[in-house]
Amino acid sequence: MWNDLRKDLKFYRYYFKEFLLFSILQLLIVLAFQGSLNNLLIIIPLVLIINFSAIVYLAKKRRKELAEVESIINNIRNNQYDHPDEIILSENLSALEQAIKQMFIKSKNDIEYMRKLQRVRSEFIANVSHELRTPIFAIQGYIETLLNGAIDDSRVNKTFLEKAAHHTNNLSNLLNDLINISMIESGEMQMSFRYFDLAPYINSIIEEMKYLADEKNITLTVSSVRDGLQVFGDKERLKQVLINLIQNAIKYTEKGGVKIVVEEEKKFVTIRVKDTGIGIPEDQLGRIFERFYRVDKARSRAVGGTGLGLSIVKHIVEAHDSRVEVKSTVGVGSEFSFKLKK
Ligand code: ADP
Repeated sequence: MWNDLRKDLKFYRYYFKEFLLFSILQLLIVLAFQGSLNNLLIIIPLVLIINFSAIVYLAKKRRKELAEVESIINNIRNNQYDHPDEIILSENLSALEQAIKQMFIKSKNDIEYMRKLQRVRSEFIANVSHELRTPIFAIQGYIETLLNGAIDDSRVNKTFLEKAAHHTNNLSNLLNDLINISMIESGEMQMSFRYFDLAPYINSIIEEMKYLADEKNITLTVSSVRDGLQVFGDKERLKQVLINLIQNAIKYTEKGGVKIVVEEEKKFVTIRVKDTGIGIPEDQLGRIFERFYRVDKARSRAVGGTGLGLSIVKHIVEAHDSRVEVKSTVGVGSEFSFKLKK
């Protein structure tokens, strides 16, 4: 009990100024009403004792409340709670209880988010290392075989060099996509939005990509686009989107063709990239936008894929307040589309 009183008194010193102020005020009031200094020797100690008792009582109450809060904070720090409802304070502290609960929920969510971020980062690093290893080991293998004598074997030397070149190309695609991903992550991928003419823009992209379709003997066409039709967006980034979608369409199509369709609506223009390729199984449509996700890893690598293209496409299209839609039927073909503001 003495111990408690000592603690209360120690705590009470924080209220010393209030104690003095109240006591002086009360004395002044008594003086004003009484109008004389009679009985002052009784009144002064009485006021001091009453005020002192009141302050000690309040200090004790406050100390208990603070001890309650301190114990809750310690419990949170020591991860003793799984659920906010386990945090209970006295009734007079209910507002504080609510605030602590909200803080608890927020920090729990923040920690969960940080953990998830850490997991995603580690997975990303593991994936990058794996993706880098494949072409580097292949290039290393072909060069060593050539150096060990195959260079003089006219039956294989050219094939080995071509294979090494193919893997060098994969490596370069991967590095380019990684640079884009890192620009997206760090927020360095700045967009510059303006209106531009769609028809010449799409035609020049088709011209650039035509040789890829020709190499595979498939067609690459575009539906007619109204002259003077203007859309709003970042020309350079959207070119990256279209090249990626057209490249994919060509990569995963063996016969038939790829068609770019432009549909004009009141406020929007929809751009569709349609192919008659291998298609994507329905249960995997939701995953193809994930980094490094491929329906068929070997096939993607064989055609120079990195598994990063669609995640970059998704990011750029979403930065235009739009979204990429995909429809696909295995063995029939796929269609990727997105809208742009007119
Ligand atoms: P990749 O570099 O492997 O093509 P993407 O991120 O561009 O990576 O695409 C992810 C995966 O989605 C591809 O590996 C492929 O399996 C599938 N895919 C993308 N576009 C098409 C398409 N037009 N037709 C069929 N499959 C596609």
